[in-house]
Amino acid sequence: TSPFLSVHDLRVRFRTEDGVVKAVDGLSLALERGRTLGIVGESGSGKSVTALTVLGLHDPRTTEVTGRVLLDGQEVTGAPEPVLERLRGAKAAMVFQDSLTALSPYYTVGRQIAEPYRKHTGASRQAARRRAVEMLDRVGIPHAARRVDDYPHQFSGGMRQRAMIAMALVCDPELLIADEPTTALDVTVQAQILDLLKEHQRETGSAIVLITHDLGVVARTADDVLVMYAGRAVERGTVREVLGDPRHPYTWGLLGSMPRLTTDPDAPLVPVPGAPPSLLAPPPGCPFHPRCAWTGEVPGDRCATERPELPAGRGAACHLPPGRRHPLFIDPPAVP
Ligand code: SF4
Ligand code: MG
Repeated sequence: TSPFLSVHDLRVRFRTEDGVVKAVDGLSLALERGRTLGIVGESGSGKSVTALTVLGLHDPRTTEVTGRVLLDGQEVTGAPEPVLERLRGAKAAMVFQDSLTALSPYYTVGRQIAEPYRKHTGASRQAARRRAVEMLDRVGIPHAARRVDDYPHQFSGGMRQRAMIAMALVCDPELLIADEPTTALDVTVQAQILDLLKEHQRETGSAIVLITHDLGVVARTADDVLVMYAGRAVERGTVREVLGDPRHPYTWGLLGSMPRLTTDPDAPLVPVPGAPPSLLAPPPGCPFHPRCAWTGEVPGDRCATERPELPAGRGAACHLPPGRRHPLFIDPPAVP
C-alpha cells in the first residue's frame, strides 16, 4: 500500500522578470498517518513552496509544477480546483507562519472558524458557531463563548495563532501542514502551540508536516526529518538519526547554530558562513559547495562538478566518504 502522503520528484519553477527560479528541484518524500515530518532549512530553501504546492495553493499563472503529489491515494497535482477545495479543510489543512495574513480583519474570529466547518459538513449556522466556541476553548482561548465574536485585531499575537490553529483543525484534517507556526511567538506560547498540534495528532491520528528553521522544534515535535537546501533535500532520517548522527555538512552547520550551542540565544541563524545560492542560477555540482568547508576531503573536483543524490531512506546527498563525521558530533548528543 502507498503511504498516506507521497511526493514524487516535485519540481516547482517560478517565472520572474530575471528568469526562471527553481524553487524546488526534485523533492520526494513519504509520510504515514500519525507521524510528524519536520522539514528544516534556511529561508529560501524551498520549504514553504513545497507546503503550498502539496496543497495546490500555488498560483498556476506564475508557477510551473511537475512531479506527483498523492494524498490518501488521490492525485493532488493537476487536480481541478473543486477537488482541491474539498481536499483542503476536510482532508488537509495548513497553518501559516503569519496569522495576520491568514485571518481576515473584516470577519469575526468565530465566523472564520465556523465557515469552513459549515462548508465541509453542512452544519447549521448555530451548530457551526457552537463548534467555533468549542474549538477556541480547545486551543486555550479564555472566555471562548465571548471571544468568539471578537475580530482578529482584538486578539494578541499568541491568541491569533491559536485561532488560526482552531480554524485549521475545525474539520479534523488528516494532514496538517504547519509552516513556521511558532516563529513569531515567545518560547512558552511556542511550546503550547506545538503541544496543541501533537494533541490533535494523538486524538485523530493525523499526519503533520512541520516546516521550520529551528532544529529545537524538530527535536521536540517530529518523528522524521528532511533537511532542505537550495530547493533540494540534502539529508533524511528519523529525528534520532539526523540529530544524533548527522551526515551532511549543512546539517552539521544547522546543529552547530542551535541556540543551546551558541552563546547568544537571540543571535540570527547563520548555520554556515555565506548565503544560500541564487535559485535563478544554482551552482553546478553540489549546491552547497560554495559554502562547504569539507570539499578538500572529497577526491578530485566532484563537489563542484557532480551533483550528489540523496539515497532513498536514511542518508545524505554528499560525496564525503561514508562514516565521515563532524568532530563535534563524534559522541552523538542524546535526543529526547
Ligand atoms: Fe560539501 Fe562536497 Fe558534501 Fe557538498 S558533496 S556537502 S560540497 S563535501
Ligand atoms: Mg518560509
